[in-house]
Amino acid sequence: MNLSDLDHELIWHPYTPISHEGRNITIVKAKDVHLYDDVGNKYIDAISSWWVNIHGHGNPYIAEKVAQQAAELEHVIFAGFSHPPAIELADRVLSHLPENQSKVFYSDNGSTAVEVALKMAFQYWYNKGKLRKKAIALEGSYHGDTFGAMSVGARGVFTDPYLPFLFDVEFIDCPLLGKEEKALNALKKIVDSGDVASFIFEPLVQGTAGMRIYSAEVLNEMITYCQQKGVLTIADEVMTGFGRTGTFFAMDQVKTKPDIICLSKGLTGGTMAMGITSCTQEIYVAFWGDIAREGERAKYKTFFHGHSFTANPIACAASLASLDLLQKEECIINIRRIGEKHKEFAEKIRGKAGVRDIRYKGTIFAMEFDTHDKGYFSDLSGQLYGYFLDRGILMRPLGNVIYLIPPYCIMDEDLDYIYTAIRELKL
Ligand code: PMP
Repeated sequence: MNLSDLDHELIWHPYTPISHEGRNITIVKAKDVHLYDDVGNKYIDAISSWWVNIHGHGNPYIAEKVAQQAAELEHVIFAGFSHPPAIELADRVLSHLPENQSKVFYSDNGSTAVEVALKMAFQYWYNKGKLRKKAIALEGSYHGDTFGAMSVGARGVFTDPYLPFLFDVEFIDCPLLGKEEKALNALKKIVDSGDVASFIFEPLVQGTAGMRIYSAEVLNEMITYCQQKGVLTIADEVMTGFGRTGTFFAMDQVKTKPDIICLSKGLTGGTMAMGITSCTQEIYVAFWGDIAREGERAKYKTFFHGHSFTANPIACAASLASLDLLQKEECIINIRRIGEKHKEFAEKIRGKAGVRDIRYKGTIFAMEFDTHDKGYFSDLSGQLYGYFLDRGILMRPLGNVIYLIPPYCIMDEDLDYIYTAIRELKL
């Protein structure tokens, strides 16, 4: 039995329809933007392996720091105990986050970072003795696969089987070009109706919806309104964080800062699983029990959330190494270079037959095709996936949208090769 058959025999893969014929590609090695499989094929990782890998694969600096940390302290319980990499990482992440962010809470991935954010927001109100039950989210949003994260995600093929078990959420239009006024008015109406605990959004780019881009100005107005009315705002920067949109965080482009921020994916440079939820001092203080004044009740304010691998020291070390690399001039230049290349290509290819829209922001480029069959499992999506794979490019379309979100070290030659494949695509 070859490796792919053995894999098929033993493993259940995520987001992968199961069939007798279906096989996964077994990657045995990776370097920079290139993946190598067990039968000698090479692929350009145009999507940073599910948007996580920002510095390329097999980065020697991250590998060295991870190895050093593994030899020093691989893991320790994070309740009642702490460790230097977690403390240093909190300090460094907070130094990049907006000034109103004061504490970080560690978890394991993007979904749990969001889960923590939602629970924090609901419990904030609970601890203040003003229970609030509503959450507002944007149509088309994706925040992860745990139940809370699914609840604030767009309803559809991902959530259908669980629909009866998701909590009610008020969805408003994503404020895409031309829909800003409608979305803002809808938000105001729900906020004014009261009982709203939080408003969650993917800042500037809705990833899973097909890299849909909206303006910083309208987001600023939405956050400002929520904050005027005391509604907590949650920026899910799981995809947009760490340089993806051209700035360190997408929220750097928005004037008013959110109360809570979720991070993951690029946090560790894409080498390990880790999530962070940061919050303001005001939120943190709502969980602070005053034993002298409140007695035993004070303990009930505790945030009863945690994972076995919370703040894993090796993941913290990988994150610290990734932050070192992100601050290097080379990385900053690469982010700018990719953005400029995307822009240049977008302007060249605009008007291509069968293309409905082309959009780009920072290192993200997306092209939406004109088709009636827009679903996640559309024939077009499978066709496009195969087309690029045949050309040695890993690109996972989102329905009728193809997109590039490459590691920052991608060379111009590889970008040009992908652009040519897109240009030569005939539907
Ligand atoms: N939020 C956003 C904006 C995401 O794009 C994703 C993953 N694509 C998640 C949350 C969930 O992250 P994870 O897959 O690490 O749980």
